[in-house]
Amino acid sequence: MMNAIVKPTPAPGLVFQECPIPQVKEHEVRIKIHTTAICGTDLHIYNWDSWAQKNVPTPLIIGHEFMGYVDQVGAKVTLCKVGDRVSGEGHLTCGTCISCRNGQRHLCLHIKGVGYHVPGCFAEYFVLPETNVVKLPQSIPDDVAAILDPLGNAVHTALSFDLAGEDVLITGAGPIGILAAAIARHAGARFIVLTNHNEYRLNLAKKMGASTTVCVPKESISEAMLQLGMENGFGVGLEMSGNFSAFNDLLQHIQPGGNIGLLGILPPGGTIDWDLVIFKMLTIKGIYGREIFRTWDKELHLLQSGLDITPVITHRFPAAQFQKGFEAMMSGKAVKVLLDW
Ligand code: NAD
Ligand code: ZN
Repeated sequence: MMNAIVKPTPAPGLVFQECPIPQVKEHEVRIKIHTTAICGTDLHIYNWDSWAQKNVPTPLIIGHEFMGYVDQVGAKVTLCKVGDRVSGEGHLTCGTCISCRNGQRHLCLHIKGVGYHVPGCFAEYFVLPETNVVKLPQSIPDDVAAILDPLGNAVHTALSFDLAGEDVLITGAGPIGILAAAIARHAGARFIVLTNHNEYRLNLAKKMGASTTVCVPKESISEAMLQLGMENGFGVGLEMSGNFSAFNDLLQHIQPGGNIGLLGILPPGGTIDWDLVIFKMLTIKGIYGREIFRTWDKELHLLQSGLDITPVITHRFPAAQFQKGFEAMMSGKAVKVLLDW
């Protein structure tokens, strides 16, 4: 038996309990988990909101951000061996649908998420198909390896556009928005402005590459632009709040012909000013997950070329004290919270 963090019944909360150690099938790998990280998705599951109620079967081991060591391999596994230090892609793909066959695994028609559709990694042992495993270069520290999943969301969104010499507006300085700021800085953007209504996270954004921050609604993006001496709007906008008012702010302040990456998951039924999209001829690209494995390669290369994301790790707890980690996340005074196994 092993310890795991489990959603036991369809109701708010999570428990730390014993579960059977999972066994591998032919093409699967078992990973002895070392470090995991809490994602916003885990909070949705904890709180048992309407998304979680629709998507998450119970009982289920949750979690999808991890690093660890391969501890058992299936009979037909060729891509890794016992002892390999690994992380991995948490989207399971079918391999046979039109997207998978077109080399777009992240758009698989039968995609399943570990930790919310199938058992996750908040456990001592975790099983993943070998084709989802990512071997870790030695230069990537354990703590950073545990957050390659959200870093990948930020990389996928930010590097969808040419950032060198651009002014970049990021709405929503959550973990992914702050990581995107660090990437934009590394990639050679000029001004990087982040918005949030949470001062704690904006302060961290400043340490991670933001030129300035805007605490909405008491501060405005226009004022920030004036202070920076920006004469034109932002060439690139990254929506990372999941809030319509933030998305509308972004549409207002983007340059004609500008590019927008839309990662934040907006609630149903909201509206935007379509005139801004049409008359400014804006390009809006929806972003889902990470390109498997182009994004993973890029993020490892960014880290190996000096991108430092360690300041986003603000808290860590032993896994048995996961409750404290979730409380820190919910307080808004945390960015990435690690759990040690
Ligand atoms: P998060 O919820 O921790 O951070 C979002 C931040 O936006 C919060 O700090 C919040 O205070 C801020 N915010 C809310 N309203 C705002 C407003 N009006 N103006 C400015 N800021 C505002 O989320 P995260 O983990 O950083 O993820 C960012 C978004 O991306 C979320 O919406 C998440 O659901 C989504 N997401 C999408 C994918 C995908 O594949 N498309 C993957 C991961 C996360
Ligand atoms: Zn598929």
